[in-house]
Amino acid sequence: MYKDLAGKVAVVTGGSKGIGNAIARRLSEEKMSVVINYHSDRQGAENTVKELEKLGGKAVAVKANVGTEEGIQALLDAAVNTFGDMDVWVNNAGMENSSSTHELSLEDWNKVLNVNLTGVFLGAKAALNHFLSHDKKGNIINMSSVHERIPWPTFAHYAASKGGVKLFNETIALEYAKRGIRINAIAPGAINTPINAEKFADPAQLESTLNLVPMNYIGKPEEVAAVAAWLASNESSYVTGTSIFVDGGMSLYPEFAEGKG
Ligand code: NAD
Repeated sequence: MYKDLAGKVAVVTGGSKGIGNAIARRLSEEKMSVVINYHSDRQGAENTVKELEKLGGKAVAVKANVGTEEGIQALLDAAVNTFGDMDVWVNNAGMENSSSTHELSLEDWNKVLNVNLTGVFLGAKAALNHFLSHDKKGNIINMSSVHERIPWPTFAHYAASKGGVKLFNETIALEYAKRGIRINAIAPGAINTPINAEKFADPAQLESTLNLVPMNYIGKPEEVAAVAAWLASNESSYVTGTSIFVDGGMSLYPEFAEGKG
């Protein structure tokens, strides 16, 4: 538990399922009020709100597309109008699909870049303006991926978006450090969420992913949420502009594990 988080307000984009849902739940356990953004899964978001309220938490579900300014404004408005302020903004929403790059349509490229990178920009911009106009030392957490560092054939648009998040994260952390606004990224590896459900349901694909994870298991969304809570709290007060890898060692070149090379 991080006592300084109690009573503060968080916005979590893409919070109806997966990693975002685990972050929303964890921040609620930390006694924060949480705006849970959803895009299509209204039921998932509303059920989470009900569950958190039963446990004494404060939460609200808000439909919004993070790739639009109106969507982002609706999330900020919900935080301020429902809970009176906004202290922590989590840019978690993301999507991926696979295509050979020579066959990748401009439409798919734009869709992935719009959610994964433009959505992060728009969310961060709204959060920064709120923090600056309220003279607030707020906190922004951007969901990146191991693919901000590891190339991923047939996911060039996804890798490009996460590489973009990495340098965007570092740049704005530097730009606003003097204001006391901390901005960090989390770079998960293979986590058990709906984005991977099909892949991990196939034993051969699960095995091939496990071979890339030195710790030899698929991560839990709660293991990512624990890092988000720490980054949001004052326990990480001297940490800004970094990407924290939550990947069971996936980014450590596992093929060299036995001393090969
Ligand atoms: P998920 O598919 O379970 O959740 C993604 C969420 O983003 C969903 O709630 C979806 O509705 C939302 N979303 C998509 N487009 C949106 C839009 N336009 N506006 C608002 N919300 C939108 O996936 P997840 O695994 O929980 O992924 C969460 C984040 O973590 C993503 O940024 C993803 O790239 C990143 N990530 C996941 C993994 C993994 O292994 N699961 C690994 C690395 C990075």
